[in-house]
Parts: sequence; structure tokens; C-alpha cells
Amino acid sequence: MTFFDEFQKHDHRRVLDRIMGMKAQDVERALQAERPGIEDFQALISPAAEDYLEPMAARSHRITRQRFGNNIQMYVPLYISNECTNGCVYCGFNANNPVHRKTLTMEEIEQDALALHRQEFRHVLVLTGEAPNAVRNEELAAAIRKIRPLFSSISIEVYPMDVAGYREMVAAGVDGLTIYQETYDPDLYKELHLFGKKRDFLWRLGTPERGGEAGIRRIGIGALLGLGNFYVETFFTGLHALYLAHRHWRSLVSVSFPRIRPAEGGFAPLYQVTDKQMVQGICAMRLLLPDCGLTLSTRESARFRDNLIPLGVTQMSAGSSTAPGGYSHKDEGTGQFNIDDDRSPEEISRVIRSKGYEAVWKDWDAAFLEDTAS
Ligand code: SF4
Repeated sequence: MTFFDEFQKHDHRRVLDRIMGMKAQDVERALQAERPGIEDFQALISPAAEDYLEPMAARSHRITRQRFGNNIQMYVPLYISNECTNGCVYCGFNANNPVHRKTLTMEEIEQDALALHRQEFRHVLVLTGEAPNAVRNEELAAAIRKIRPLFSSISIEVYPMDVAGYREMVAAGVDGLTIYQETYDPDLYKELHLFGKKRDFLWRLGTPERGGEAGIRRIGIGALLGLGNFYVETFFTGLHALYLAHRHWRSLVSVSFPRIRPAEGGFAPLYQVTDKQMVQGICAMRLLLPDCGLTLSTRESARFRDNLIPLGVTQMSAGSSTAPGGYSHKDEGTGQFNIDDDRSPEEISRVIRSKGYEAVWKDWDAAFLEDTAS
């Protein structure tokens, strides 16, 4: 059985009808459930639950404190290439966009990595576009090996690989994989991904499982909020995270809530996702999956991010650049999208502390695995 089997059991139209038909008593029942299931989740993300945001937030806060303590784990993206052969209409790296393309050399990757290391970052997310000839598996693995001494945790957000490819990454030192489905609606997916390998909906849908099979320890998923209907996308994201948490229980599953940001190409969101819905989605996800990491990037405004800290978030990016070479070079390539929260890592960690939390720069070391294995 794969996630696709589970996915097929849920008709999109019926999922939406069910969520829209939820009543106050369904939400109250979900809030009282000791361990809310996927039916309860539908109630918690429904319009009917908008009147229950306070109790949802209070419960989400309580569970997060129990499971994760007062820690917010800090990470930073490191873009090593913006070359791409795909045509995703919402992305600045779309092959049709006339942007300044750049793939960092090994030396430049090291310089950017050193710049981030100097800023105290120990968790890094390495990103590329999807251009098989710009950054091949072996080149990515070599880059990972190069920067590995500088970081205790290296995640990747790159083109989907097969299981053997992910095993190669694990051997090189990767412990985390982020892969967004973008939209769980196959028809909309086809409309938004005009050409390139990324058009293959099923190949992408099965990617987190292939990562889990290869032994990647952290698996991050998400839908790009603003593409499909908020309720349907949030439901399928929850279903996917639940499946992965059960099936690949050795991996820590996390969910991100990326809202579309302005980018080269000028794509406008198809759905407006409000701040209130974001809060609702985050709290509902926490109630469905108490041990799930919840990630918030610098796509969101400083004020909104600050307010979300106590509500269930466990990981935040800081000081981000979405351009290759953005941390140490002047001739960096064009960024993937515009970030909103442009405060320095120090400023963000100060805010985190002021809310009674600890900004954690290192909570994992590959040596833990070696110790367990010996
Ligand atoms: S979303 Fe990824 S695959 Fe699509 S154009 Fe952007 S970088 Fe390329």
C-alpha cells in the first residue's frame, strides 16, 4: 500500500462538501476527542471551527509545549542553483522566466556555507531548481560532503529522486528531505505545471515515501497555499502527514505552511488564504499530529510570525536569501520569490526569547545515529 491508495479513497468534491457541511457540534466533538482523527480534522479546518480558534490555539499550545518543550529550531535555506527545466507558473525559477541563472561552484557553496556557519546556523536546507544537468546526484552529494563538517543537520529541497538516489544522499550526510506537493488536486496540478518532469503528479506524490524508505530521518511536506482550495489542500496535507507518520515512523514528519509570495513571472494566487485560516490550519494540524514538526518560513511577515510562535510552530527559518550565492557573493542569481520577514537571525532569536522560547541552533547531530548503530 502507498499513499496513492489512501489518496484515491477520498474524492475531492466530497471532501470539500463534507468540510463545508461541518457544524458547531462537530467541532466541539473534535475538540473533546482525546486523540482527534482525520474526521475530526475535517471539522477543525472547516469554516464552522473559525469560532473556536481560541480553544484550538490553547490546546495546540499545550500539546506543543508537552512534546517539544519551549524550543524553536532555527534553520536557513542555502540555494546552490536556480536553473530549472520545469514550467511551474507560480515560480520565479520557471524555465521560461528570463532571470539571471546561476549554479554555484564548489568553492562558492563553501563560501556561502561558511557565511551561514559564522551566523551560528547548524541546520541548513540545501535547495536547487530542477535541472538534471545543472546539479546531478553525484554533484549534490559532493557538495553535501563538502559542507557537512560545518552543520549538524543537512536537509535538501531539490528535484525528486528514486530510493537509490536518496540512499546516496543519506550516505553523503543528508538527514532531512523537504518536498511540497504544491497542490493535491491532480487537474489543477496539470494546469499549473506546464512542462518538464514536474508534470508527473504521481512521481511527486510518492517522493516523501521514497525518502522514508531510504532512511531519511526528517521528512517535510506541504501544499503551496494559494494554489488550490484551502480546505481541500489542508485536508490532503493532513492525510499525507498522518500516513507518513504511521508508515515511516522512524522519520520525524513535519508540515510547512508556505503561502504564495510575489515572484518573477507575476503569478497571482488563485485563492486568498487569510491569516485566520493559516492559524486554524496550524492548530488543527497540531491536534491531528501531536509529534509533527510545524515549520514557518520567512515568506510570512515578521509580525505574523511572531504571533504564531506560541501556537504550535516548532521550526523557523531566519536571515534567508532565496538566491544562489545570496550570503557571500555580489553577483548572485535571481531569487525564487520575495521574502517578507527580512530580520537578522539575532533579531528573530531575540523575539523568540521574549516570548519565553529558546531559539535552538542545534538539536541533532549525525553522530547520534552512529551511536545508536554501534
Ligand atoms: S517550483 Fe521548482 S520545479 Fe517549479 S519552476 Fe520553481 S524551481 Fe523549477
